[in-house]
Amino acid sequence: IEVVGAPIFTDRKLLKGAVLAFYDITDFKNVEVMRKDFVANVSHELKTPITSITGFAETLLDEGLSNPDINRQFTEIIYNESKRLKVLINDLLTLSKLEKEGFALSYSDTYLLQIVNEVLPAFKQKIAEKDIVVETYIEDSIHLKADREKLKQILINLLANAINYTPEQGKIKIQAIENETDVHVMISDTGIGIPPDVTHRIFERFFRVDKARSRDTGGTGLGLAIVKHITELHGGKVFVESKLNKGSTFTVMLPKNLDK
Ligand code: ADP
Repeated sequence: IEVVGAPIFTDRKLLKGAVLAFYDITDFKNVEVMRKDFVANVSHELKTPITSITGFAETLLDEGLSNPDINRQFTEIIYNESKRLKVLINDLLTLSKLEKEGFALSYSDTYLLQIVNEVLPAFKQKIAEKDIVVETYIEDSIHLKADREKLKQILINLLANAINYTPEQGKIKIQAIENETDVHVMISDTGIGIPPDVTHRIFERFFRVDKARSRDTGGTGLGLAIVKHITELHGGKVFVESKLNKGSTFTVMLPKNLDK
């Protein structure tokens, strides 16, 4: 509670009384705490790759340049860490754009299967490397008014996770069902699953079940936060059902927005 007070004087400037206003600033404080947490998290996430880049570059300059093995190895680390940094900054910019006041989606009539088919080729190599089977069950008539690029982003993030968190020879299914008003898109995998006590947290920025694993697969911890944000901008909802060591299903429910 924040208290603001002001004295009241008589015409002859004598103190007559006072007014006090009590403000409930709980919400404001919560936003403030979240903002501070976020800044601390971002700083930490940026610091990790930068520390590694400067460290390896220094060693390289000091003694590595004359040694071809060290030269190659350290340069590769610097390159990979720089790429991580780029992905992280891109994700942060995406989130910040989505959060800008006045940000508007650009709706157009969008055929879901077409979007899935545009997204899948980017994962072809990864899917082949891990010997994963991907099955798509989407009727080609299913369509909705959506922001095509943003819808693509949802699918990219969910598919990337399904592939990353599924061991070799796993299976991924992309399904959709529709009713009069909504389309439900389900992406399920036979992967490592999510521990039940943290399922409610995985859409939080920077939350990861296993930081090391997420880092190894190039994750930023922002993918699901972006998915949630885009879904909600469309007036939809996203949720997950998961069994540890069995697999996960992410469901995105999107209104068809046929009036848009
Ligand atoms: P990341 O970049 O770490 O993948 P995300 O925001 O996309 O970040 O996901 C947050 C966390 O949720 C991941 O680190 C992982 O622990 C968990 N997760 C997301 N998708 C899956 C999945 N399909 N199977 C198992 N765990 C998942």
